[in-house]
Amino acid sequence: MLKKAVELFCNSCGKKLKMENGILKEDAFEAVKEWGYFSDWDTQVHRFNLCEECYKKITAGFEIPVEITTKTEVL
Ligand SMILES: [Zn+2]
Repeated sequence: MLKKAVELFCNSCGKKLKMENGILKEDAFEAVKEWGYFSDWDTQVHRFNLCEECYKKITAGFEIPVEITTKTEVL
C-alpha cells in the first residue's frame, strides 16, 4: 500500500493523486525496482507511480496482457 509519502503524483501525466489526511483516496500503480549487477543501473532503486488512466494506456500497449488474478478474501 501507498502510505509513506505525503503527496503522490502520477509520473506519466504529472497528475496529483487524491490524498485526504495522509490516506490515498485514489488507487494507483506503484512500481519499485532494485536493479542488479546485470543491468545498467546496478545498486540503483527506481520507483514510480501511475494513475489508473496512465496505467490503462501503458498496459494497453503490451504485447502480452497483464496477468490478472482475483484476490480471494482471507478472513
Ligand atoms: Zn497519469
